[in-house]
Amino acid sequence: MPDITVLRLGHRPERDKRITTHVALTARAFGANRVVVSTKDPGLEESVRDVVKRFGGDFTISTGINWRRYLQEYPGMVVHLTMYGLPVDEVAPQVRDGEVLVVVGAEKVPPEVYQRADLNVAVGNQPHSEVAALAILLDRIFQGRALYKEFPGGRMRVLPCERGKNVVELSEQ
Ligand code: SAM
Repeated sequence: MPDITVLRLGHRPERDKRITTHVALTARAFGANRVVVSTKDPGLEESVRDVVKRFGGDFTISTGINWRRYLQEYPGMVVHLTMYGLPVDEVAPQVRDGEVLVVVGAEKVPPEVYQRADLNVAVGNQPHSEVAALAILLDRIFQGRALYKEFPGGRMRVLPCERGKNVVELSEQ
């Protein structure tokens, strides 16, 4: 199984808080191990850690990362999500086990990211959202299995039910 880090570029705390939170939660729910965000944002860190605490797993978040250095020194495969890339269904099978960095942008992504990427991957060639692109890529990489991943250690467990909400809250030890 690949160990996946999502690198979120260009996060603007005042404008992008909600969507970057969604990038992080989607990364976690669809099987990634961590998210790193270029801009420092303690509020974003807090809200993602709060979900991890309540719902479990060992997903981590770091913000204020020097993304140029991170990208240059990254030891594994770099996969950049861009509408200009190659079709996801063609290239997702090339994603190997081991360390994988998935890069998503917010506004214009610098050309060096396209150059450094081992794979520039498009989820269709229409502009849409980093959240949608990330979900589809991770789902293709894990071939649907990530949705059934266990998240040990959380206080809350959602039990599927036909109607309404069935949530079990475990008492703290
Ligand atoms: N206009 C920006 C550019 O040209 O780089 C992209 C802005 S878009 C709202 C934000 C991010 O969503 C992109 O950086 C990319 O990671 C992702 N994205 C949007 N559409 C995509 C697509 N069709 N395939 C893959 N990724 C996509």
